[in-house]
Amino acid sequence: MREAELVIIGGGPAGLCAAVSAAESGAQVLVIERNKTLGGQLVKQTHMFFGSEKQYASTRGIDITAILLDKLKNYKEKVEILTETTVVGMFEDGVISVLHKEDNYYKIKPKAVIVATGAFEKALAFPNNDLPGIYGAGAVQTLMNVHGVKPGNRVLMVGAGNIGLIVSYQLMQAGVEVAAILDAAPRIGGYLVHASKIRRMGVPILTSHTVKEAVGEDCLEKAVICQVDERFQPIEGTEKEFDVDVMCISVGLTPLNELLAMRGCEMKYIPQLSGFVPVRNENYETTVENVFAAGDSTGVEEASAAMVEGYLAGICAAAKIGYVPDNFEERKNDYVKQLNYLRSGPVGKHILTGIEQIVTAGGRHV
Ligand SMILES: Cc1cc2nc3c(=O)[nH]c(=O)nc-3n(C[C@H](O)[C@H](O)[C@H](O)COP(=O)(O)OP(=O)(O)OC[C@H]3O[C@@H](n4cnc5c(N)ncnc54)[C@H](O)[C@@H]3O)c2cc1C
Repeated sequence: MREAELVIIGGGPAGLCAAVSAAESGAQVLVIERNKTLGGQLVKQTHMFFGSEKQYASTRGIDITAILLDKLKNYKEKVEILTETTVVGMFEDGVISVLHKEDNYYKIKPKAVIVATGAFEKALAFPNNDLPGIYGAGAVQTLMNVHGVKPGNRVLMVGAGNIGLIVSYQLMQAGVEVAAILDAAPRIGGYLVHASKIRRMGVPILTSHTVKEAVGEDCLEKAVICQVDERFQPIEGTEKEFDVDVMCISVGLTPLNELLAMRGCEMKYIPQLSGFVPVRNENYETTVENVFAAGDSTGVEEASAAMVEGYLAGICAAAKIGYVPDNFEERKNDYVKQLNYLRSGPVGKHILTGIEQIVTAGGRHV
């Protein structure tokens, strides 16, 4: 069995920032990432980021990964990175099991762990939702922006949040016609600046609408949609049909954190944080000692918040195993301030309501 000081599970923005701050404090860090490349969601984000200047607003997501990897180069002797390696188990005795590629299975015993595994896309239930041609928005983004593959010719986007709007725009940039964007909510969830841009390009955004069914023999040929009432129930006689070969489902993300549940961390369902999330203290330590968590795996937010959470979890986990920098409190307070700033808008306030419930849950605070 291999021993390690601090293992970070996930090489997205939260995991990479945790690695930077933990290594800066002096800890020996092992980052484990299941993909071939680091950066998590950022690797497919060709758009310029919103958020705050400190977290690279106006920089493209793909370029933020390069910036973070550059920072890590300063700590070459402190940070080891394993890619194509998936953590498949976290056990009561503190051992974690990993699978490298397809057949190299082994165990690691770290002093502390930070779980930064991100989130996964929610699906939508309707007849024939498994026809080829029906994708999650993240999958479409990966196809186009990572592999250079056009997913089809005419798409119906389901979901008018920021991801649905941004991916619609990217589809048009790739030469795919967007027939319409629909959303069951009565209002557009994403930023109006994105929605206006899409509307100016002639794409209708239909609020209070949902998918009734998908139609096709071997693959998607048609989507049937309908209006919904204020209780999200379909309204008879309002059906419309779209001839499309792609349907893109963008109805939100859910924290990916089964490893924490497996390890025995206390979890709580918090709708504002998009699912089950770990109860954490002010140092982002879960209810299991020396198990920390940061980023979307603790509540779906944005890369900006994931990065700051990562930095904070990194210095706190390093401190817990003996690497306490002189300016520990000062740095921690600065990260808390940055998070408060990022969460000061209307979406952030919604997130804060969720975080408050975690406080109540564990008698601890985040
Ligand atoms: C279309 C789109 C547009 C967005 N635009 C913006 C924006 O403009 N501004 C902004 O701030 N945010 C934006 N976001 C949100 C942002 O991308 C996420 O909030 C951010 O990536 C979360 O970071 P994370 O490190 O927590 O998770 P992720 O980026 O998801 O990284 C998690 C990593 O963990 C790895 N992993 C998971 N499980 C395991 C395991 N068992 N073993 C090993 N590795 C594992 C994954 O492969 C992944 O690399 C956008 C998201 C999308 C989808």
